[in-house]
Order: sequence, then C-alpha cells, then structure tokens
Amino acid sequence: MRVGLRRLPAFAPGLVVLLVVLHLQAGRAFGFAEDVCQSYLDGGAQSAVNADAFNCNDLQGLDGEGGVLSGMVTYARTIAGSFYARSSLHFESAWIIARLYGMADADALKVAAYSQATDLGTFTPYDSSGAAMEAATTDDIDGVTRLNLDTYGFWLHYVPWYKRAARSGKVKSRLFYRKTPGRPSPFARAERPLNHIRDWALGRRDSLCSFGMTGAGSRCYSGVGPGSATLSLSAPLFGPVRTDEEQVTLGDQIVSPADGAWAAAQAGSLEALGIYLHAMIDRLSHHFCSDKSPIVEDRGSSPRYRLYYDQACGQLLHVTLHYREAGHWPVPPRSKRALRYMSFEIPVWMDETNYPAEAQAGRRKIAVALRKISKALSINDADARIAGLKAVAEHYGLGWIGSDHAGTFQVIGKYQNLVGVRS
Ligand SMILES: [Zn+2]
Repeated sequence: MRVGLRRLPAFAPGLVVLLVVLHLQAGRAFGFAEDVCQSYLDGGAQSAVNADAFNCNDLQGLDGEGGVLSGMVTYARTIAGSFYARSSLHFESAWIIARLYGMADADALKVAAYSQATDLGTFTPYDSSGAAMEAATTDDIDGVTRLNLDTYGFWLHYVPWYKRAARSGKVKSRLFYRKTPGRPSPFARAERPLNHIRDWALGRRDSLCSFGMTGAGSRCYSGVGPGSATLSLSAPLFGPVRTDEEQVTLGDQIVSPADGAWAAAQAGSLEALGIYLHAMIDRLSHHFCSDKSPIVEDRGSSPRYRLYYDQACGQLLHVTLHYREAGHWPVPPRSKRALRYMSFEIPVWMDETNYPAEAQAGRRKIAVALRKISKALSINDADARIAGLKAVAEHYGLGWIGSDHAGTFQVIGKYQNLVGVRS
C-alpha cells in the first residue's frame, strides 16, 4: 500500500479518534507523550495559560467531567496544539533531575525545554503565574520531531539498534545501562544510533548523522557519489499494513530546518543534552518496537542498510501501550527507568563539558528523590501530579520552574503522603 502522506496519519485528529474508538482503553501514541495540559487564556496570543491543569488524555473518563467522549476530544485537540501541553517526564522531571545535580535554574530549563521541543518542534514554558516565558522559547527543531517524514526525525523517537550482518542471529536488543570503566558508552555497541546521538550531545563529535549511521572516519555519509549510502526504510502503520519501502539517502540529520548548521553548532550544548535525553528515554518508552527494529547492513559494494520497523511499531498496538506511563498508579518500570537513566546521564554530561555545578544533592538523596518523582508521576489528577512534582523540587530546595511568581499549584493533602513531602 502506497502511503503518500508526509506526516504519519496518526497525526490527523480524525484518525486518532478512530483509533480511540477501536481501542477505548487506548492512550497516547507518542513515547512519553503530553500528559499535562493547560488551556490558553487567549488561543491566538498564547501569552498566558489558565492555572488549572488537566489530563491531555483522559480516555477512561477518570477526570469525571464528560467521560470518554470528552477525553477523546481533548486528546485530539492536544495533538492539534490547542493547549499548553507537555510530558511531565520529558519536561518537569528532566528539570528536577538536572537541578538535583546542581544545574542552574535557567540551564535546567533549557535542557527540559529542548527535551520537550523534540516532540513539538518548538516549546515555550509558562511560569507558575501562567505567563509565557518567551525568553526560554526554544529554537525551531522541527527536523527531529516525531512525525517528520521529510527529515526522518522520527528515528530519534523510535530509535533503532544496529545489527552488522543480515544473518547474525540476534533479533532483539534491550537498552541496559552498564557503566564499565574504559567503555565509551554505558549502552551496548548494538545501540549505535543512540550512542551516536549521545556522542553528539556530549560534544565528542560535531555532526549528527541521519539514523546515527556514519561512514569513513566516523563522518556522516555524503548525499551522492563516493562516500554515499542508502537505507531502505519500511514501517508498519496498522499491524500488517506497511508503507512502501523507501530509499533514504543518508547524510547529516537536519535538526533545525531554518538553520542547516544548527546541529554542528550545538554539539555538547545544553540544547543537545535535552534532545539526547528525549531520544534516550523514548528508546525506553518505545522499547516494544525499537527492541525488535534493527538497522541491518546488507553486504555489497557500497554501504547499504535496511530498517524494517517491526510490526509491534504499528499504531494500534502502539497506542495501547503508552496509556499508563504517567498519571496512573503504579507507573510502569519504563517510566522509572527513564528517570534513573536521566539521572545517570545528566552528571556524565556535566563532567564531560566541565559544567560548573552548584551544590549537588548526594547519591542517596537523589535515589530517594527519584522515588518521590515517580510517585508524583503516578498521581491521576493532572493538577496534583504537577503539584506533587513541584513539592518534590521545593522539598530539596530547588525552587520551581518559573517560580518568581507566586505558585498556583497546591499539593492536595491526600497526595502529600504519597509523594512524601509534608508541609
Ligand atoms: Zn518523542
């Protein structure tokens, strides 16, 4: 079946609603997707948001207002960009963890904002009074967004692994963090695409290559002629229905369509760290797909690769697996691993880039803090979920995102015990 759309069909709100009808228990479709929403006071200006947060995705009608149908409409509107929406894992949690390691507020905000912008293209955080923090708006990084089929940005969300020979037996790779002295990465060599993004984020390399594939001298392949390479790409949409195989010419990954040299200028930056953290935890979130989706090198005279995303990557299964990643008790192991792995990688980045850290929380404190964050993430009520995260940050003296203004979120009493912060 030829699919001519340059955007994944799941992006069309109508289709999302259809998917939801087919899978009433289903949920968000895109990695650790937007779970917390706030409405704009003026949808056109988007300069301020209403203080009340709600679940972007309430497909079980747990918010108790309007039930499943209104949850579906909200979800469709979230995807269409009608709300200030963000993932409490990609955004708030990343900010807290960076702060725990002694990153300055503005820098932690940059990391978190770029982590969130990797899904949305650009991102403006709002302060606790609900005003847009315009100065913290990210550059346009639409080239790495989850639905970009022109730049193939989706590979940073559905991160494949790498299998050298077509006939080697391994069919699965799982992402495990094992820090071994002397090894350049805590992830296995088979995680070559992810390790590639990581090297760029740590400033070990300047260029970011499409699908993380490099040629001679670890340079990105060049478009045509000698030094070029192609990747045959195919992805399932709904289980057995696949897109036609497409020949991708490998080269530099376009991150910012407005500025082709963006990736090279940002190697080793806070921005790059944000993008990397996003890809790394999406590798966990989408493990059911990525674990079974290797890039395979075909034998031949010029480098040829293929990437046939596994059937598990199809949207129908996909949407059913994301629902409980935040806002449900208990959150699944992959949400907890995402927190842990971010907490391992942020200090690695700070070390390698000689970041002048403020006072850091000790190891034990961070382990306890991660448990508190994960408990806050499990709270079903969106307002209380954010309030729980804020309470954790304030408990450790970290302040809060845009907290110059008086806070609006109150931790609801019954959740104070859960998160373990008594005021
Ligand atoms: Zn993503």
